[in-house]
Amino acid sequence: MSVAPMSIIRVLVPLALPKAYDYRVPPDMSLAAGDFVRVPLGTRRVTGVVWGAAVGNLAPTKLKDVIEKYEVPPLSEEMRDFIDWVANYVMAPPGLVLRQTMRVPAALEAAKPLMTYRATGDEPARITPARTRVLQAARASSGLTAADLARHAEVSAGVVRGLIKAGALGLHELPGHKPFPPPDMETAKATGPQLSTEQADAATALGQAVRATQFGVHVLDGVTGSGKTEVYFEAIIAGLESGKNILILLPEISLTAQILHRFEARFGYAPALWHSGLGASERRRTWREVAENRVRVLVGARSALFLPWHDLGLIVVDEEHDGGYKQEDGVVYNARDMAVVRARLAACPIILASATPSLETFVNMREQRYMEHRLTARHGGAELPDIQLVDMRLSPPPRGKWLVPEIIEAVGVAIGRGEQSMLFLNRRGYAPLTLCRACGHRYACSNCDTWMVEHRFDKRLQCHHCGQNVPVPNVCTSCGEADQLVACGPGVERITEEIADYYPDARIAVLSSDHVGDHVGGAVGMRELIARLADGGADIIVGTQIVAKGHHFPKLSTVGVVDADLGLGNGDLRAAERTFQMLSQVAGRSGREGTMGMAMLQTHMPEHPVLQALPAGDRDAFMEREAVVRQQAGMPPYGRLAAIVVSAMGRDEAHDFVQMMARQIPAHDDIRVLGPAPAPMARLRNRYRFRFLIKGGKTAPMQAFIRHWLDKVKLHGSLRLSVDIDPYSFM
Ligand code: ADP
Ligand code: ZN
Repeated sequence: MSVAPMSIIRVLVPLALPKAYDYRVPPDMSLAAGDFVRVPLGTRRVTGVVWGAAVGNLAPTKLKDVIEKYEVPPLSEEMRDFIDWVANYVMAPPGLVLRQTMRVPAALEAAKPLMTYRATGDEPARITPARTRVLQAARASSGLTAADLARHAEVSAGVVRGLIKAGALGLHELPGHKPFPPPDMETAKATGPQLSTEQADAATALGQAVRATQFGVHVLDGVTGSGKTEVYFEAIIAGLESGKNILILLPEISLTAQILHRFEARFGYAPALWHSGLGASERRRTWREVAENRVRVLVGARSALFLPWHDLGLIVVDEEHDGGYKQEDGVVYNARDMAVVRARLAACPIILASATPSLETFVNMREQRYMEHRLTARHGGAELPDIQLVDMRLSPPPRGKWLVPEIIEAVGVAIGRGEQSMLFLNRRGYAPLTLCRACGHRYACSNCDTWMVEHRFDKRLQCHHCGQNVPVPNVCTSCGEADQLVACGPGVERITEEIADYYPDARIAVLSSDHVGDHVGGAVGMRELIARLADGGADIIVGTQIVAKGHHFPKLSTVGVVDADLGLGNGDLRAAERTFQMLSQVAGRSGREGTMGMAMLQTHMPEHPVLQALPAGDRDAFMEREAVVRQQAGMPPYGRLAAIVVSAMGRDEAHDFVQMMARQIPAHDDIRVLGPAPAPMARLRNRYRFRFLIKGGKTAPMQAFIRHWLDKVKLHGSLRLSVDIDPYSFM
């Protein structure tokens, strides 16, 4: 992997620069590819990575010297190849992709030694219950800091200091960070459940794949509650036994808690974690420990792919169909797809787990590029929920209300039995539109092409796109009339209010990102809240898509979907697929332990294929049909798509530029460019937006085509251009 010491090297820095630059290695320094270094760049000093031998032809005398080499293991060739591959594929500057790996600059500095204490065996002259607890804690561990000891033993710092002074605790310096504990294989093997035949078959096949240390994509396709997690835990054991490291990806932070607890119960220790909610010191520790090849299992969000991994033996992508794997800002990539690439480079298997695989994965599985492992039955004979449609044309809700009588009644039955219900509506806030009865004025965002959403708990109108928010006015800002504003349409807050009218004594919880937030505390708050709800902390849970994903609510028997048609109207390529996945997931929350689950979907179009397939439980027929539709339209996965969005502060500026771009479109037999057209969200954060859609055949050289095209255009003024390969959002 490492190359001979070099006198001139190329360094990639984590910035949006077109390429890596050459530097001279000072005579007293020895560098190899992958080393982390500090180099001068203009007037700054930046940290980067040695990308290889020099390629430029600047005379060495013109080059600047590397300033410093960091004492940290080099970034592997595999990681560097991965970064180059991703950059090339998503058409981002390689430095920006490297930045995904270098998010924790502090981790490059050698960590201060950790001052831990161990019991020396010398009994202190005076012994108290507090002191005994500290000594017990010290004996039970291979090294805790004084603060940790005090916390574990629930004593004051003074007690620990006293024991140190008395010689009962001795200083034991550990290098750097507190290591993550090693896996306890005995516990892991001893605590596994008795697997069903189909679970055991899948586990055996996956275990073999892991031991073979070969690349291969394995789809763990099992209905909700069929034991996918139990099965991939077996594959993880196989990986750990071969001495390899394991990465488990989840689409959302809030899902980490359940996996974590289950993992701990099974493996006897908590795995490392990686997500945006981690504190700075934990990020630093985790990054460093991964770089030092000391993290055996890590559970993380998509960015965990870019940690400086060594020896990956297995990647698991749970809920692989989830749109949360697509990163939409900065480097625009799909972590599920990039995880497959990462596994190929690591020559290890990858497991894509889902109850509702994406169409891409479904087709790959059917065409046998991906291996299929099916779990058809819920564990313990629990039945899949009974899904029923409620035709709102025949059975409308009472005037000014949103819930049909059938759902109200079913919730009442569940409450009577001591079971939980869930009402699902993928819309935050109280109402999606506010208007003035007197003058008809509709409250729109001043920065975006969208309505302001009322949030009644906060008494504010909010834009869900730019975050602008203002207090709900008392008088109409347009005509000045008082008390004329009306809320149009429902959001989760309104549904909460409605159901509370029917069941005033029920404990009702509303769950959406508003009520816990996306911030650090929010992620933790969300996990705790979900754990509390799962534990029976509410009779009725009203929630957005946050409740749909992977959570296990043992007491939940009844699900009501307020608007099953909501996602079908937007005409996006994946509208039907996504709606099917989301509604299956929501329905699948019910009836997981013993109780028979039931889901009712309110719809205005019961004849729609998605709404036909759900009650019939016929996922495969639906997917086959979707596949035909996509094939006929030449859409992914049978064709390729890319989007280019151009935006500017002025509409004319953006418009003129896209017209100019349109004249430069290269000719290609297998690629067509649609547009430019105003983007569906034609103004966002005060920028005017136009979009091109690039549509190509299955093997069309999309990136080369786009590169060739964009080489001819030059941005100026307030113009911005972003490329999205394999777009998921068509906003
Ligand atoms: P999925 O990931 O497919 O939704 P899980 O792995 O979460 O399914 O399993 C659902 C529930 O059933 C969990 O509580 C799990 O522990 C339990 N379970 C699954 N398989 C078994 C088994 N063979 N023996 C005992 N419990 C099982
Ligand atoms: Zn806005």
